[in-house]
Amino acid sequence: GPAAPVLSARGLSAGYGEGGPVVRGLDLDLRPGEVVTLLGPNGAGKTTTLLALSGALSPSGGTVSWNGRVTTAPLHQRARAGLAFVPEDRSVIMDLTVRENLRLGRADTGVALETFPELAGHLDRRAGLLSGGQQQMVALARALARRPAALLADELSLGLAPQLVERLLGAVRAAADGGLAVLLVEQHVRSALAVADRVIVLRHGQVAWSGPAAGVRADPDLLLGAYLPLA
Ligand code: ATP
Repeated sequence: GPAAPVLSARGLSAGYGEGGPVVRGLDLDLRPGEVVTLLGPNGAGKTTTLLALSGALSPSGGTVSWNGRVTTAPLHQRARAGLAFVPEDRSVIMDLTVRENLRLGRADTGVALETFPELAGHLDRRAGLLSGGQQQMVALARALARRPAALLADELSLGLAPQLVERLLGAVRAAADGGLAVLLVEQHVRSALAVADRVIVLRHGQVAWSGPAAGVRADPDLLLGAYLPLA
C-alpha cells in the first residue's frame, strides 16, 4: 500500500481573527515521494493553508499531524523535525552572500550545489545582486539541502521566466523522486500539473476538487474552466 503520510491535516481551519476562518475544515495527507499541488483562485486560502501546516499560523480548528502525531509545535521546531517551508517572499537575505544565506539556513553548500550547480559561480555574491530566478534557487536549495522530509512551497515561480519555472519545479520533482513529500502552491497551473501526482483545488477555503494530476493533465481546461476561471 501507499506510504504513511508524513504530514496530515484533519478538519483544519485557520484565519486571521475578525471575519471568521479563511480555511475551513481541510483534510489533507502528504506522503513521501509525492508532489501535491494546491490550486485555486486568488484569496481561496492557499497561502493560509501552508501557514497553518507549517506552524507559522495557529489553526482555529482541527489538527495537523507530523508522522502520525498531532503537533502544535511552532515553525522553527517543525523545521528542525524536517519540515521545510519556502514562503512567497523567498526569505533570502539580500545583504548576505549566497554562501551566508545557505549557512544561515544550516544548509550544506555541497548539497545545495548538487541541486543547483548554476549557483557555484555566485557563492560569494550578495544575494541582492542575483536575478529573481537565482534568488529563488538559493531559497529552494537552502530548503532542500537540509534533506527535509516534507516541503511546503508557496509560489516558487512567481514572476520567473518559463525556463526557470521548469528548472525550479524540475528540482522539486527530483527531490520528490528521492522521497520528499511536497505541497506546492502555484500560479503556473500547467507547470505545476506537469510535476504533480495529485491536485487539490481550494475554493473559499474548502476543497472543491481533488484527484490525480494525470487526468487533469489530459484535459486541463475541464478543471480550469470549472474551478479556476482566473488561471
Ligand atoms: P493568493 O493567490 O491571492 O495569495 P491564496 O489562495 O493564497 O490567494 P490567502 O493568501 O490564503 O489566499 O488569503 C485568503 C484570504 O485571507 C484572503 O481573503 C485574504 O485577504 C485573507 N488574508 C490573507 N492574509 C491575511 C492577513 N495577514 N490578515 C488578514 N487577512 C488575510
